[in-house]
Amino acid sequence: MAEKFDGKHCSECGGDNFSAVHDEWMRRTFFFVEKGQLKMCSSCGAKFLVCQQCGNLYTRVHPALETWEVSLSCPVCNNVNPEVKAWDGTSARP
Ligand SMILES: [Zn+2]
Ligand SMILES: [Zn+2]
Repeated sequence: MAEKFDGKHCSECGGDNFSAVHDEWMRRTFFFVEKGQLKMCSSCGAKFLVCQQCGNLYTRVHPALETWEVSLSCPVCNNVNPEVKAWDGTSARP
C-alpha cells in the first residue's frame, strides 16, 4: 500500500469501479462487516467496508487483517465507525 488510501480508489490497484458483494465468511469473521456493507474492486477483487455515513470506502478488509491496517476514520468524511474502532484484532467471533 504505497499510495495513500483516499476512500474512492482501490488501495491495491487504484481502480475506481466497485460493486456491492456479500461475503458470508467475512460477515462471520469480522463483526463490523456483519453490521456494515462490503464492496469489491472490479479489477483486482479487493474488498472494502463501506462508510455508513458517506458511502465511500472506509477500509480494506481481507482474511489476514490486522488492527493497524484498518482506518481510524473514513478517509472521505472522517466519520468514525465505532465497530471498527472497537475491533481488537480477533478474527473469530465466539
Ligand atoms: Zn483493486
Ligand atoms: Zn465516510
